[in-house]
Amino acid sequence: MSAIKENLEQIRNRIERAALRAGRDPQSVRLVAVSKKIAPPLIEEAMAWGQTLFGENYMQEAKEKISRLPAAARWHFIGHIQSKKAKDAATLFDLVHTVDRLKLARELDKHAGLAGRILPVLVQINVSGETQKEGVAPAGAEELLVAMGGLANLRVQGLMTMPPLLDDPEDVRPFFRTLRQLAEHFAAKGYFARSDGFELSMGMSGDFEVAIEEGATLVRVGTALFGPRL
Ligand SMILES: *Cc1c(COP(=O)(O)O)cnc(C)c1O
Repeated sequence: MSAIKENLEQIRNRIERAALRAGRDPQSVRLVAVSKKIAPPLIEEAMAWGQTLFGENYMQEAKEKISRLPAAARWHFIGHIQSKKAKDAATLFDLVHTVDRLKLARELDKHAGLAGRILPVLVQINVSGETQKEGVAPAGAEELLVAMGGLANLRVQGLMTMPPLLDDPEDVRPFFRTLRQLAEHFAAKGYFARSDGFELSMGMSGDFEVAIEEGATLVRVGTALFGPRL
């Protein structure tokens, strides 16, 4: 059997079990297949087994794949965005996970407007406070959300985080929990586009089940699906 088919089935089962453990509807969790550095034939193989949502980190690579792969594929951007790449980010993706500063938000808003679309985005939070990490500090997030509320072409749907890479997923749980609590706080203040819920993008190959137990709605899984990136 194809490794990708087998991996997908295992990941889907693990997502379902983690959701049920947490008393959640498994349908409330979406798998973002992280396809950075993965060749198009492998992405098409995943599509053949029903995976249509992919996450990319590098703009040039993403552009090439989006133009080559079937239109049924949907794309999220999950990498760092330089402001000068805002046009691509605002036009090619269904959801941008990594808005972490007002300058970028304004550029995305401008280009979404020029393209005549409303762009769904997440705000990336640096929950661990590691200095080399991207993301807005929790203490600065509210100011950013308030300012983004004035940008007519963006819809903030929730939060995203990249916690520290730790061997034991249980050690990552507090960072996921912090993100969820922050999102609940912001949801109560009406900062998200939908009043009935929000997206939480958190959890990768090593820790997505813990993330789901803590409320993840989007898990970003690469290695567990496609194998190691070369
Ligand atoms: C690479 C990457 C992932 C996937 O990581 P894996 O450990 O391979 O599952 C998820 N999120 C982001 C932002 C990434 O850059």
